Amino acid sequence: MTPETRGRGPLAYGDAVLLVDRKKRRYLTALEQDGEFHTHAGVVPHAVLVGLDEGSTVRSGRGAAYTVVRPTLSEYILNMKRGAQVIYPKDLGPILMMADIFAGARVIESGIGSGALSMTLLRAGAIVTGYEIREDFAARAMKNVTAFHGNVEDRYTVRIGDIYEGIEERDVDRVLLDLPEPWNVVPHAEEALHPGGLFLAYTPSITQAVELRGRLEAAAFGMAETVEILNRGWHIEGRAVRPNHRMVAHTAFLTVARRMGDSVVPEPDANPAPQMQQPADEPVSEDTVDDGS
Ligand code: SAH
Repeated sequence: MTPETRGRGPLAYGDAVLLVDRKKRRYLTALEQDGEFHTHAGVVPHAVLVGLDEGSTVRSGRGAAYTVVRPTLSEYILNMKRGAQVIYPKDLGPILMMADIFAGARVIESGIGSGALSMTLLRAGAIVTGYEIREDFAARAMKNVTAFHGNVEDRYTVRIGDIYEGIEERDVDRVLLDLPEPWNVVPHAEEALHPGGLFLAYTPSITQAVELRGRLEAAAFGMAETVEILNRGWHIEGRAVRPNHRMVAHTAFLTVARRMGDSVVPEPDANPAPQMQQPADEPVSEDTVDDGS
């Protein structure tokens, strides 16, 4: 059972599980027949975990305690194997809103990296076509996506290629980018997106965001916005209640913009012909009232 289709009942073979130790360290594994979970503190046979409810605590051969649960998407992403650096859950959530992702949305995503954003888009029901320049990263991402979602072939395709050279698809709903020079994709996104479609780019540096905003403005994009998501955890233990001492101070800027239509509807004629003028008995507006001064 993949995490995406996971059941609610007791843990079973095939389930992905997260083991959490006393120091809150987390270990991700998949339950297999004859499988074993090895740590410096001994072994936990998978057979011991199968049949338990989520939240149960088990002990390794040398007595270390582990609590076992099925991972959320966020926990899965933070603990899965990575090729490239992933986008963190703190940004993944807002990306879904800012890019207005919906079930059935046709999304172009590049680069694919480790597949964290792909997994998030697929969970929201999008139909994703990825462009990734590195074959090894594409393979890693495909493994992560399949391990979490099972077979999603019908709505996840990865093309090996350089998106700076073009996007083949047309009439797409969204273009989402996480690569060094997203402005190189602006002309291609302009062709691929339908009017009203959304473009979003994740850029670690503000100079990238500024360069991108300039290019978007010069192209058929409008309603652009750039934001940064700050996320501060709190330590709550008895009466010791305060913000955590450490936080992830910076990840990236999120820039979103909308593909505008080409039509310009002319304004009503500012200087109408005489027969079109307002009848004389039309009430006068406030700003033409003669106050006698
Ligand atoms: N968003 C991803 C991480 C992407 S890392 C995640 O959440 O897991 C950036 C990726 O962009 C890398 O895999 C890199 O190989 C790819 N990339 C860089 N330039 C590219 C280009 N021009 N076309 C396609 N992919 C590119």
